[in-house]
Amino acid sequence: MREAKVRTFKMEPIRVRCRSCNKEIRSCAGKTVTCGCANMTSIKKDVISAVDLSQVIMLNTYSVKEDSGLSTEQIEWQKQRSRRKIRKLDFEIR
Ligand SMILES: [Zn+2]
Repeated sequence: MREAKVRTFKMEPIRVRCRSCNKEIRSCAGKTVTCGCANMTSIKKDVISAVDLSQVIMLNTYSVKEDSGLSTEQIEWQKQRSRRKIRKLDFEIR
């Protein structure tokens, strides 16, 4: 259940609001989306650009962590697992 939720989040397009014209724009696959005002808020793939980025509000969170498709718990578990592996190898060499 947790995995499905993460995947949905990953597919969610980036949404930002331009404070200059108050228009909400969202990322669209394969093309650059712009708000159309002088601030030129635009989203291209996962890159947000604007004349004044302080005028741009992120409406959803998009972090690198979610890209792996793993929850924080799973990542932590994998880290611990790899740490254990390294320790075991060290022991075998000695
Ligand atoms: Zn604008």
